[in-house]
Amino acid sequence: MNMSEKSKAHVDACRFCWMCHHICPIGNATGHERSTPRARALGISMVNRGAIELEEIMDNIYECGGCGGCVRECVTGWDPVMFTKETRLEAALEDKLPSYINTMVDNCLESGNAYGKTALCARLSEAIAKHAAVTDTLLYLGVDARYMACEQAVKAISVLEKAGVAFTVLADELPTGAQLDFLIGAAEETKEQMAAAAKVMDGYKTVIFYDPADAKTVKQTYGAYGVETAAKTVTYTSVLADLVKAGKLAGKSGKTVVYQDPFQLARDLEETEEAREVISAFATLHELHLNRVETVWAGNILMAQYIPDVMKKVAQRRLFNVKSIGEKAIVTASVSEYVSLKSVEQNEVEILSLEDLILGE
Ligand code: SF4
Ligand code: SF4
Repeated sequence: MNMSEKSKAHVDACRFCWMCHHICPIGNATGHERSTPRARALGISMVNRGAIELEEIMDNIYECGGCGGCVRECVTGWDPVMFTKETRLEAALEDKLPSYINTMVDNCLESGNAYGKTALCARLSEAIAKHAAVTDTLLYLGVDARYMACEQAVKAISVLEKAGVAFTVLADELPTGAQLDFLIGAAEETKEQMAAAAKVMDGYKTVIFYDPADAKTVKQTYGAYGVETAAKTVTYTSVLADLVKAGKLAGKSGKTVVYQDPFQLARDLEETEEAREVISAFATLHELHLNRVETVWAGNILMAQYIPDVMKKVAQRRLFNVKSIGEKAIVTASVSEYVSLKSVEQNEVEILSLEDLILGE
């Protein structure tokens, strides 16, 4: 397989190492050694050495959620996310993607989202229409909120309205490229999608990203891929924290909650306190044992399309973390984790988004 020398070195470092296998939320959910970073590296190294075909490891390559738990744990600085993404790119270039991934890539290219959705729910269309006028500030909802959790997208708009913010929302919002980056990494198609979105962002002074996956992609991956936007790019959570500080958002829920740090905010963008400031204004905040940069991913919507049972187990394990310290409510800042946690049938832990907490819903 065509792979950079840098990635090959990381693969060879990881293939006989067990040091982070206990960290991987996927490995812990499946209970399978094959799901861990070490086993993924072993598979790639066997392809690199011609012992097996690339197609044989691709299901395993798509089990990684890219959460970076292993990268953070690694005391020697190796990076399984990097070589996993490079393997996805190479499989795309060699036309060796699994069919279920090919379908999602085609959907991303044809309809802008991996789910192949084209219509928004009626309530979201109405909410967006009220913010069609051009302002200095663009609220970017992201494909997961728009197509898979439209009630949360409506609430994200309602919170900014409640705080008196003037902002624009686009009815035909372009994808940031975050999903294509997850599916096929730094392919030309991914960069083209990113460049098209960046051009739209250039028309605004500030762009607020509701979805941490989009925030991470635009604030971090765009630069790595040579894509630029002139707009100031900010996370939704940081905007909410500023609004709380300015006295524009206030209230008391009477709830006691823990916070689920999205890995994109906590590990990639090093943003951990903003959401806590917001939560503390509306509720009593307790902490999970593994919090901030040590957060444990609670699953996502995209991977639930092809490994739904594993995603449910990932969410169940995070809910177990909440229950095991006697807590009764968890607040999310990632719409994808919110949906993942909600997919578990249970009634012991209340699952709230930041918007739910602020709007009292
Ligand atoms: S990332 Fe580090 S700890 Fe994990 S398998 Fe690789 S070398 Fe070992
Ligand atoms: S990035 Fe996350 S899901 Fe992927 S191997 Fe590392 S810990 Fe597991």
